[in-house]
Amino acid sequence: MIGASGPGAIGPVRIVELQVDHLELPLDPPFHANWDPEPRTRFPATVVRVVTDTGIVGVGGGDTLRGVEPHAHRLLGTDPMAIERQVRMLESIDFHGPRPWPIEAALWDVIGKTTGQPVATLLGGMTDRLAAYASTGAAKSAADHGDVARHVRDRGFRAIKLRVDAHDRSTAIAEVTAVRAAIGGDLQIMVDLNQAWRMPGDVTGSIDLAEARRFADALAELDIYWLEEPLVDADLAGLAALRAGSSVRIAGGELWRTVADADRALDADAYDVHQPDVVLAGGLWRGRGLAERILRRGRRYSPHTWTDGLGLLANLHVAAAVGGGPFLEFPYDPHGWTTDRRDFPLLAPTEIDGDGDLVVPRSPGLGIELDEDVLARTRVGGWRLRLVDGAVVRQELTR
Ligand SMILES: [Mg+2]
Repeated sequence: MIGASGPGAIGPVRIVELQVDHLELPLDPPFHANWDPEPRTRFPATVVRVVTDTGIVGVGGGDTLRGVEPHAHRLLGTDPMAIERQVRMLESIDFHGPRPWPIEAALWDVIGKTTGQPVATLLGGMTDRLAAYASTGAAKSAADHGDVARHVRDRGFRAIKLRVDAHDRSTAIAEVTAVRAAIGGDLQIMVDLNQAWRMPGDVTGSIDLAEARRFADALAELDIYWLEEPLVDADLAGLAALRAGSSVRIAGGELWRTVADADRALDADAYDVHQPDVVLAGGLWRGRGLAERILRRGRRYSPHTWTDGLGLLANLHVAAAVGGGPFLEFPYDPHGWTTDRRDFPLLAPTEIDGDGDLVVPRSPGLGIELDEDVLARTRVGGWRLRLVDGAVVRQELTR
């Protein structure tokens, strides 16, 4: 049993305050995400802060936390270090409400800052860096795809992911061909068909297994590293059949809601590359366990990170902790998705190093440094709950 005294002992820690800031960055010019029928004119992000009675502030983000407030008082007065207990409570909130996992990220930030260690070290410390792939997002012409690929290579990346139209195979293959012609063998290429799920209001159906096979066959000729989300996410048997008959790796699982969803995909052998996101599906602690099961079966673990800069850091820590990869998603597209936009709540955007690697921040916790001026400028709402003499005091945060 760990006591509150003795060498290196850590005394009891209690959460005394929880703050959620809802932010919104106007996007002018808009961002035309390939998987979204509506151009994006604003980018919402949420920052959660957990304050302890030892004065430590843990920070997390990566999803909206809209609707979590009625449950949030349950964290006040509890021990942020008791992560299994915290995760079980967050799982109960997850079942009845929104995805609460940015809060768990903030708890890990507290644990890291309390123990003086990066979260990646606490969760396994397998490596301190992963090769980043430039995850592009905008629909664009074949020539523009080629130009972006050259730009990405010249910036030092070793891999690029392309978004193409799954419903227009000849154009899609022409775009990938243009990229291969532009960069030769300099970059690994991933292709995302985004067929697993839909944005709100998008009623387009997924392509079927026969069409996905034609895609995989054509892309095998272009030596791509993986084919992502070629089928609707419910078709685990179809994905497994596609895998079995293709020399191209099949990737998916980015928007699973629970660890149980991701485990079903693993049991069905649906993917070569599993992409559950720790701030969207089950959190960092359960995500680490899931990653271990994926890696033990010889499959790849390369989590989705396309949320915001805070979600990217949380996934980087877990992926580095277990030795995921070999590539980690780095959302970046000169056509509308800059690192400044992606990381707008942060003091400075996360960037790759000279080798094209994403390096785990060495500072204790997750290494999130907020830009308070930007937060004040972009806040559209929020709330703060504080424990004062045993009572919960609520404060509304306004723009
Ligand atoms: Mg994807």
